[in-house]
Order: sequence, then C-alpha cells, then structure tokens
Amino acid sequence: MIDAASKALFHSLAQVDRLRHLASSYGMRPGGFARRFIAGETVEEAIAAVADLPGRGLRLTLDYLGESVASFDEAHTASLEYLRIIQAIVESGTERNISLKLTQLGLDVDVATAVDNMRRILESADAYQFFVRIDMENSPYTDRTLRVLETLWQQGHRGIGTVIQSCLTRSPEDVQRLNQLGSRVRLVKGAYKEPKTVAFQEKSAVDTAFVELMRDLLDHGNFPAIATHAVAMIEATKRHAAERGYSKDRFEFQMLYGIRRDLQTSLVAEGYGVRVYVPFGQQWFPYFMRRLGERPANVAFVLRGILGER
Ligand SMILES: Cc1cc2nc3c(=O)[nH]c(=O)nc-3n(C[C@H](O)[C@H](O)[C@H](O)COP(=O)(O)OP(=O)(O)OC[C@H]3O[C@@H](n4cnc5c(N)ncnc54)[C@H](O)[C@@H]3O)c2cc1C
Repeated sequence: MIDAASKALFHSLAQVDRLRHLASSYGMRPGGFARRFIAGETVEEAIAAVADLPGRGLRLTLDYLGESVASFDEAHTASLEYLRIIQAIVESGTERNISLKLTQLGLDVDVATAVDNMRRILESADAYQFFVRIDMENSPYTDRTLRVLETLWQQGHRGIGTVIQSCLTRSPEDVQRLNQLGSRVRLVKGAYKEPKTVAFQEKSAVDTAFVELMRDLLDHGNFPAIATHAVAMIEATKRHAAERGYSKDRFEFQMLYGIRRDLQTSLVAEGYGVRVYVPFGQQWFPYFMRRLGERPANVAFVLRGILGER
C-alpha cells in the first residue's frame, strides 16, 4: 500500500473526464493496457478471459463495474443488468460467485431502494446457488452497507457476505457483529482515501489491524476470505492457521485479477484456496485508477503499454 497522498491523487484523476475518455479509447482495445486488470467490457468477454482459471486451480468472483447512481430508475436498470449477468454465468458454466457495489443499486437514493434491488438479484442468485459478495465502498457507506446485509440476512438470504477494511478504526466491532451474524467476511486493507477521524493513516497500523482482524475471523468467522497480495499478511495467516491446527479449507485467500499471478499459483500449489476477483464492464476507469494509485510501478506498466501501442 502506498501513502495517502498518492491514493488521493489517483482518486482525483479518476474524476477527470478528458483522461477518462482518452483511456477509454485506448485501454480496452485488444492488447490494451487496461486488459491486465480488467477482464472485458461485457460479461461474455470476461467469461472468455477467465476460462483458464479453474483449470489452474483458481476460484473466481465476477464483478460488474458500474457507476454509482442517483436515481431510482437507474438503480432498477442496474439490478436488471445483474439478472442478465447471472443468466450468462449460469449458461456458461462459470463458477457462480459475483461481487457488487450497493451504490450501483441505489444506496445513494435510500437504503430501502438498495434492499429492494438486492432482493431482486438474490431471488435469482439464490435459485441458482450463487454466492453474492457486497463490496465495501468508502466510509460514508459502511453503516448502510452493513444494515442492508443484516436486513437481507434477517429475511432469510444466506448466500451473501460483505467486506471489512482494516484501515477503519471501527472494524473490530464490525467483525464481531458479522461473526455473530454468521455471514462471510472478506478482509481487505481498504482502497479508499479516508480521513484520520475514521481511519489509520500509517501503513504499519493498517497492517497490524489486518493481522488482528484476520485472527478474529479465522477463530470465530464463517469461511473468511483473506484478500491481500501482501506476503507478510499471507504468511501471518498461514502461521495463525498452523498454530491453531486449522485445516486449509477453513478460509480462502483472494487476490485481484492481473495482480501477483505468481503468488496466486504458488498458494494453490501449497493447497490453499485462492479466489481471483475479476472486474469487467464499461465503467472500468475508477477501478483502474484505484489500482494505479496502489502501486506507482503500475503507472510505468501502463505508460509502456500506451507507448507500445503507437
Ligand atoms: C479480492 C479483493 C477484493 C477487494 N475488495 C475490496 C473492497 O470491497 N473494498 C475495498 O476498499 N478494497 C477492496 N480491495 C482492495 C484492498 O483494499 C487493497 O486496496 C488492495 O488489495 C491492496 O492492498 P494489499 O493488501 O494487496 O497490500 P499492499 O500493501 O497494498 O500491497 C502488497 C503488495 O501487493 C502487490 N500489489 C498490491 N496492489 C497492487 C496493484 N494495484 N498492482 C500491482 N501490485 C499490487 C505489490 O507487490 C505490493 O507490494 C480488494 C482487494 C482484493 C484482493
């Protein structure tokens, strides 16, 4: 994880329309620079791009990248798009696991709209035995996201889970809350620039919190996902599991499409479960900029790609 200033810079750049247009016309062309991190612009392209992952022992979750929406109608339209995606996944025989964001489904309109749209998606997802992960967005959405999950859980939906970010100081209580509920948690460090009123600003504090939360999840959680590319976090997880005598199928590791593919493969060879988070969709630019903000070397990678295309 790099420092907060870099995260903030890339988050601001993600809002620049001219940059977005420039990137859109180059990034996703065949062989384009964004294709390392984004599996395609349509679900069909994404399914084709990841067809070899199961053969390499990797699990996957497909994430349709969309903009946050401000109206009831747009949120409804996004939920219908998810129904289409679910059908396409079923027909292709791809693993039935998706990740989504609630601001796409109307969380900015109100909680009830997001719950209604989620319920529509879950009715189809449950029928086909999908697992649906609600990604965690920035801290103004944390409470509402947990409330939506709890409401759906109380209504009997069990194929759902969400994400906890170790950068947030509130996360130990949230982990307890979700462990008690019994829903699955994906643990991450947190991709958003957060103020110091709610989040640790030092990488070392975020890492320490990650390890503590990982232990709590392994000890008391329901099949937690430890989602990181940081070797120190992965080693700490393996050590804790070994010390407690936990079997390797008590949890899984998760990593992002196109990042540390070597590590993904070596963990599979050691017998650990590894799930790859596979983003796709036309609205890939903000996600792409978050990945650049995490690692300056990615900027050089992208520039080489752009120059190479000329
Ligand atoms: C499966 C998955 C789902 C996620 N879901 C969410 C979510 O719902 N909400 C949320 O806020 N965040 C989410 N994240 C992002 C997460 O919060 C971090 O921003 C991201 O994973 C980078 O942190 P890290 O743990 O890999 O550690 P870092 O300390 O940032 O990185 C450790 C090492 O990993 C490699 N690495 C990390 N990032 C990159 C990159 N972008 N490009 C190339 N190499 C890299 C580098 O080798 C780096 O040295 C998710 C991450 C994963 C893996």
